[in-house]
Amino acid sequence: PLALLNDSSLLKTDGLINGQWVPGTSRFDVLDPATGQKLADVANLGPADAEAAIAAANAAWGPWKAKTAKERSILLRKWYDLLMANQDDLGRIMTAEQGKPLPEAKGEVAYGASFVEWFAEEAKRVNGETLPQFDNNRRLMVLKQPIGVCAAITPWNFPLAMITRKVAPALAAGCPVVIKPAELTPLTALAAAELAIRAGIPAGVLNILTADSDRSIAVGKVLCASDVVRHISFTGSTEVGRILMAQSAPTVKKMSLELGGNAPFIVFDDADIDSAVEGAFASKYRNAGQTCVCSNRLYVQAGVYDEFVAKFAAKVKTAKVGNGFEEGVNQGPLIEEAALAKVQRHVDDAVAKGARVVAGGKRLPGQFFEPTVVADATADMLCAREETFGPFAPVFKFQTEQEAIDAANNTEFGLASYFYSRDIGRIYRVSEALEYGMVGINVGILATEHVPFGGVKQSGLGREGSHHGMDDYVEIKYLCLGDI
Ligand code: ADP
Repeated sequence: PLALLNDSSLLKTDGLINGQWVPGTSRFDVLDPATGQKLADVANLGPADAEAAIAAANAAWGPWKAKTAKERSILLRKWYDLLMANQDDLGRIMTAEQGKPLPEAKGEVAYGASFVEWFAEEAKRVNGETLPQFDNNRRLMVLKQPIGVCAAITPWNFPLAMITRKVAPALAAGCPVVIKPAELTPLTALAAAELAIRAGIPAGVLNILTADSDRSIAVGKVLCASDVVRHISFTGSTEVGRILMAQSAPTVKKMSLELGGNAPFIVFDDADIDSAVEGAFASKYRNAGQTCVCSNRLYVQAGVYDEFVAKFAAKVKTAKVGNGFEEGVNQGPLIEEAALAKVQRHVDDAVAKGARVVAGGKRLPGQFFEPTVVADATADMLCAREETFGPFAPVFKFQTEQEAIDAANNTEFGLASYFYSRDIGRIYRVSEALEYGMVGINVGILATEHVPFGGVKQSGLGREGSHHGMDDYVEIKYLCLGDI
């Protein structure tokens, strides 16, 4: 699939340190999850490369923060323009290594690029404050300064957007970054870095450490242990987030964490059912269910339960599964064998505990799984507690509003939540009662670049996107000026 790129020079396979492509002493394979075919050999960098990248970033920090905000803004804007000009190629690279359908991949390129555009604009608005003096001989001020060298460790489900929403605010604020992209999807990251170089982002300001899963752990240790790295931003599993937090404790690093979710999707009796079916379908099966905001548990009120289950199952049965490059495919492969095994485990467990399969239910040849719906799910099932991260929708029945809220909140996670209702009082009550960082009301998709994305409880720390997305990359300094 990569032979068809308009610009084959976007296909980079080495790491990037201090503006130089670094081949490393060993390589690892990147595979196409739809076919199992090898796409590329990528540099397998290790701890010494991580030290070199941190040193390069630190050396680049002074000149980068010395640029005016407008100068940084102009460079970011150029990067945005190049990302969009190469949307087709980036989309192809992404579909090849990640599997999502090509239109979805191109959509992610636009979404990923939008963070670069947004933070190019926000770069100019990192404003300080003047405060009223407590004594007329003094003047009080607040400066916002770039935090320093930042590290970003990113997952495979959004190979571009999870990078840009960390890197764009860091660069905008005046910080250099060291990125450790997911080992399953490094090619999109490297193509984006090549475009950053073409945009004129200086050497050392953006570094990429590609590494296989073992070396990712070793590189992660170096990034966490470094005194020079002042901030780590991570998107991925809660389990790895905890490890990175523990490893960062000795250096008291600032952290942004976007971890697992277990999103409830609640349909009340007064909902527009057809709209809820569309929303649930979009929320659940996008990216084959492999997003941290995909609905994981569908709670439907008794009065509309049978209607919803019938309509939702009928909708899900229309979904076309296949290679993301094929026309009309809604759902591509899952990323790896372990992902398929988890979906199977959740389906089998639900069925063993009495759930009824109303759509799909089976694995298909290769790394594909039928979009699956089960009815009559109950709280004792694995799918009620764990994030499936795949195309499996368990539907639970509830009677009262309070019951739905309690069930929705009965999890250690708190990222996205969704509900459908037309009752204005209920909309306020339920929105306020859900212990989540994000609530979608009568929608199944809610992310965009100018809103604060993030979770509460064990779903993470900090917010990405919006003007709040800059906060983690600046330090606040208080100046107290006397003897006026
Ligand atoms: P997912 O559940 O999305 O596969 P992971 O949390 O396993 O996500 O991985 C997300 C990112 O974290 C990837 O870039 C991966 O290489 C990296 N990673 C996984 N384990 C560690 C670790 N112990 N230290 C540092 N990075 C890690």
